[in-house]
Amino acid sequence: MQGRFYEEINTDSPQQALYIMTKAFRIRNNYALHALTRFDHDLRHVVVFHKEEENPRNNEFFNQLSLDLKDKLLQITDDIRFTTGLEDITSLIEAVDIVYIDKAYLKEDKALLVEIKTICNNAQTGLVTVENNVFVPVVVASDKEEYAARTIRPKINKKLEYFGDTVLMDEEGCMGEREAYEMLHQFVSRKLDHYDQRNDPSKHYTSDLSAYLKYGFISPVQIYHIIIEQSSPNKDEFLEELIIRRELAYNFVYYNENYDQFDHMTYDWAYKTMDNHILDKRDHLYTIEDYKTFNTHDKYFNAAMKEMIVFGQMSGYMRMYWAKKIIEWSKNYQYAYETALKLNNYYFYDGNTPNGYTGVAWCFGKHDRAWTERHIFGKLRYMNANGLKRKFDIETYVKEINQLVEEDNE
Ligand SMILES: Cc1cc2nc3c(=O)[nH]c(=O)nc-3n(C[C@H](O)[C@H](O)[C@H](O)COP(=O)(O)OP(=O)(O)OC[C@H]3O[C@@H](n4cnc5c(N)ncnc54)[C@H](O)[C@@H]3O)c2cc1C
Repeated sequence: MQGRFYEEINTDSPQQALYIMTKAFRIRNNYALHALTRFDHDLRHVVVFHKEEENPRNNEFFNQLSLDLKDKLLQITDDIRFTTGLEDITSLIEAVDIVYIDKAYLKEDKALLVEIKTICNNAQTGLVTVENNVFVPVVVASDKEEYAARTIRPKINKKLEYFGDTVLMDEEGCMGEREAYEMLHQFVSRKLDHYDQRNDPSKHYTSDLSAYLKYGFISPVQIYHIIIEQSSPNKDEFLEELIIRRELAYNFVYYNENYDQFDHMTYDWAYKTMDNHILDKRDHLYTIEDYKTFNTHDKYFNAAMKEMIVFGQMSGYMRMYWAKKIIEWSKNYQYAYETALKLNNYYFYDGNTPNGYTGVAWCFGKHDRAWTERHIFGKLRYMNANGLKRKFDIETYVKEINQLVEEDNE
């Protein structure tokens, strides 16, 4: 567990301690909260720091599921505050001896950390960042931006045993935690055995845990311990997504400062192939408004857009298809990238995460390889509707989404 803590600023006698909870909104298996209780601090403060997202639906989701977080935290600490901005807590940071904070990965979180570090430096307050939301701490897993899953996999697997510790497991968690555990148990009992068929969007064999992981309502370490106990032949496939793919995404945004910029998010071979195909004739050209109003000629794509806009989610395979179609139907690649990212981060409950930036970049070749040359796509991996029809019960998916939307309108 030691490797999860990074002392940014040292302190000698930490009597009053503060944990600024920014990414792991949970009681159970929260390493920072555990550190707060472990040492002999005279006073323990917790600030629940949640910056509002652009989409009110995401804020509502978070607010609902963290409604009883305060009550749960009161069992452990002396003083709890909720805030959406730094100005409310500056004097508290100045008053305590040590601050623990969840590790920052995305730009806005890193910017917040810099501000907090400045306040701590000026006030001579100690500062410790805690890797609370990944299995293997990002900087321990690798010291550089990794090329692909195959390059990070052995590095992570080697360290799993060392970072498997769990803490504070007897405390009852908040509503988001309880809901996440319930979903995990449903997944294990009903879906894990079918997880190898997860790509079929009509089947719903995935865990739906991504939004809960985003807010840290559940820890990947805790999920791992439950999955590893199972006898299902699919457990390794699930752990590959939960740990290797997810932590590859964290590696990407942590080490690539321009992870959200079209010109910097993918590889040279991918930019070269896009340059070679920029003038290819597009048979369909759509705008972001066409997507939002389900106004394309492709009923599979429109169904996926409905799932996204009305329900805030989309199954994993359809996300790939969806972003690939945006590439095919956009006036240029940069417009496609910006459109996909904008929709992804606004509409998905699990948007604004390392996974979102990485998932979209993957459609532009990141962490992927070059494929056979195609119209518009060049060497980027190509996907088409015939693939959906051949592999899945895609008509059932479309019917089901349309029905759910109708019911939602009633
Ligand atoms: C274009 C595109 C956009 C995406 N946008 C997002 C996003 O905004 N937020 C997001 O969390 N994921 C995103 N993904 C990754 C993946 O599709 C989702 O994590 C997954 O569909 C979430 O459903 P689940 O929780 O049921 O997944 P499960 O299959 O049950 O997987 C369990 C967990 O593993 C992780 N995981 C699964 N697949 C991936 C993957 N390919 N890459 C990284 N981690 C993975 C997730 O945290 C997920 O919750 C995107 C993928 C693509 C191709």
